[in-house]
Amino acid sequence: MTDFLSPNYLLTPSTLDTLADAITKLSPLAPQVNADGLCRLQPLSEGVLSSQALSSFVPLKKVFLPPREKLWSFQSGQFSALKQPEPFAVVGVPLCDLQALWYLDQVFADDLPYQNRRARALVVGMPCEQDKECRCDRQLMPLAGDLFLDQEHAWALSPAGEALLRACGAGETTNKPLPWPTASAGTRPMLTEEQYRSAADAAIWAEAAKGCLSCGACSVVCPTCYCFDMLDESATDGSVTRNRSWDNCFFAEHAKVAGGHDFRSGRANRLRFRMEHKFFGFGALHGQNSCVGCGRCRTVCPVDIDLDQIATRLSGEELA
Ligand code: SF4
Ligand code: SF4
Repeated sequence: MTDFLSPNYLLTPSTLDTLADAITKLSPLAPQVNADGLCRLQPLSEGVLSSQALSSFVPLKKVFLPPREKLWSFQSGQFSALKQPEPFAVVGVPLCDLQALWYLDQVFADDLPYQNRRARALVVGMPCEQDKECRCDRQLMPLAGDLFLDQEHAWALSPAGEALLRACGAGETTNKPLPWPTASAGTRPMLTEEQYRSAADAAIWAEAAKGCLSCGACSVVCPTCYCFDMLDESATDGSVTRNRSWDNCFFAEHAKVAGGHDFRSGRANRLRFRMEHKFFGFGALHGQNSCVGCGRCRTVCPVDIDLDQIATRLSGEELA
């Protein structure tokens, strides 16, 4: 994790080459656009580091919190140990996704599988090209990750990133700030918690959710959505496996409990719940806006539901 003023080094061509070699040896994942036009985080195909970040369709969270994973199994009186991943790198991460990573790091601070992956990953951010759906905000929250690179500069975002830079020959420092987009394409409305809570019974929720298909796509692509479900599977030989898989607050079953009671049976309730999470957080992160403004949910929603537009109506502000 870092504050907004990260140590920044000038990169000579030879330092950049050494650094690129060191990163390439870590079998990096990078966002790449496939023939179907989708951008996916996948193994770097040609071994050449790009110099630009891309917004992958499914964000970085899938690397540290996989959609499905076996957490442990118990067989013949013994628990299986969690597998330790090999060190790896993820490159070409946009700044908003580095913020989202910081958020997830707080949520999963005590989660061993998540932390095992984080401890073995070198996360490298790069400058991005602003898209019409971008509403990022540099002041929203700190960045996680290890390095941020452009063609001539490197910012150390963690002690590991700084050590790698120095090992690769970086020495001369500068005061260049991180290259955030100068103006976000859209400015996000400032909704207060009081405005949100006082609109608990407002007609806007049913209106906005009317077209919602409960497909959950907005949550799947959101870099700070992390709901998961646990499923224990037992076999006739007495073995038990605990699995974890992504859940989704838009799914009809999400808030159903034993006995059949459903805390959020309607789509309007589920939309309101998601809005609360994105704007005001939960638990120890209560008060922390968790929407990093990446725009993925707006791009993917088949019926154009936009949380910022709802916030605009609730707050009476204009959405830029
Ligand atoms: S813009 Fe949408 S997908 Fe991106 S962080 Fe905000 S709520 Fe999540
Ligand atoms: S992507 Fe749109 S339609 Fe699908 S659950 Fe989200 S808000 Fe509803």
